[in-house]
Amino acid sequence: MIFLDAAATTPVRREVLDAMWPYLTGGFGNPSSHHTLGESAASALAGARSAVAGALGCRQGEIVFTSGGTEADNLAVKGIALARQAANPQLDRVVISAVEHPAVEESARYLERFHGFTVDVVPVDAAGLVTPAALAGVLRPETALVSIMYANNEVGTVQPIAALAELAHAQGIPFHTDAVQAAGWLPLDTRELGVDAMSISGHKLGAPKGCGLLFVRSRTRLEPVIHGGGQERGRRSGTENVAGAVGLATALTMARDGQAEQQDRVAALRDGFIHQVLAGVPDAVLTGHPIHRLPSVASFCFPGTSGESVLLELERRGVVCSSGSACAAGSDAPSPVLTALGISAEVAQTAVRFSFDAAVTQEDLDAAAAAVQAAVAAVKNLGAGHGR
Ligand code: PLP
Repeated sequence: MIFLDAAATTPVRREVLDAMWPYLTGGFGNPSSHHTLGESAASALAGARSAVAGALGCRQGEIVFTSGGTEADNLAVKGIALARQAANPQLDRVVISAVEHPAVEESARYLERFHGFTVDVVPVDAAGLVTPAALAGVLRPETALVSIMYANNEVGTVQPIAALAELAHAQGIPFHTDAVQAAGWLPLDTRELGVDAMSISGHKLGAPKGCGLLFVRSRTRLEPVIHGGGQERGRRSGTENVAGAVGLATALTMARDGQAEQQDRVAALRDGFIHQVLAGVPDAVLTGHPIHRLPSVASFCFPGTSGESVLLELERRGVVCSSGSACAAGSDAPSPVLTALGISAEVAQTAVRFSFDAAVTQEDLDAAAAAVQAAVAAVKNLGAGHGR
């Protein structure tokens, strides 16, 4: 099987599992316990926090471990907006982009439904980019928070985060970015990005599902969304997932150390794959930005097919990928991301996303490109047969 669905999830890396193992077995203590076992768990958690802070260029106290990307996005969007509104009730608007993951979009809609906020949506251009001019157009004195993702999970477009954050800051507005898809591929130094909050999920970069983190700059006020025993300095209650934090720290450190090399290698493979697919299926349309895109994502529409049928034909040929985001799979509605890029509903339902992990090879992608050509032809033939 050739697995080209790494944007949905990745297998746990051997080194990550090895680093986690002691905290799943003999060193299983609760970091809040005042005995040796607890203290050793607390020190593992502190070590993980310090490694993460090193990888993100921030202070240890600015890391909140969470159960994943969704929780980190919820905490950022709700937590920052509600804290700002509590300090100044006039701050009752949040800005998100038109291509956010549901974890951000639904958090913003929750603020609208239950806390009187208005959600302002910044449009994207046909390549999925939020331009600084478009963002400037929606910022208001009442804006409590801007949340714009670093890289899109369906089409791979990478946003100019530093420029967008600067624009928000010029008006005194904090800036959050969902870096779940960017982690492992793009620079994550929070000082260079200039963001106030950033979400990361473990399972997209070789750590297990169910662990993630939110970076929150120390001057940024945050209202917790999970209440309880006051762990994570009161910002996220619940017994910490020590092994998960250790695994996430290991995966992030490995990604940072190999990132530049990995990025160039995989970007070159991606470009070759895009070229082969467009040559093999002349009416295929590459979605997302031609240059500012994740090294790991090649996404297309194949007009005259159905994305779901192409996926089935690909799987029959040993290639596993997806029609877009894993969360939207199975839904009949056209992808809101593709719709925001101006793609018609008819074409949007022909979308297929190929996403790679760092281990992808030329042979995999050569075989996958040949399978794409055959799968699309098979679906078109079937369609023509039905039409007769
Ligand atoms: N944000 C983006 C951009 C994602 O792609 C995903 C997962 O697909 C998430 C957030 C949610 O992360 P998690 O699966 O860790 O909850």
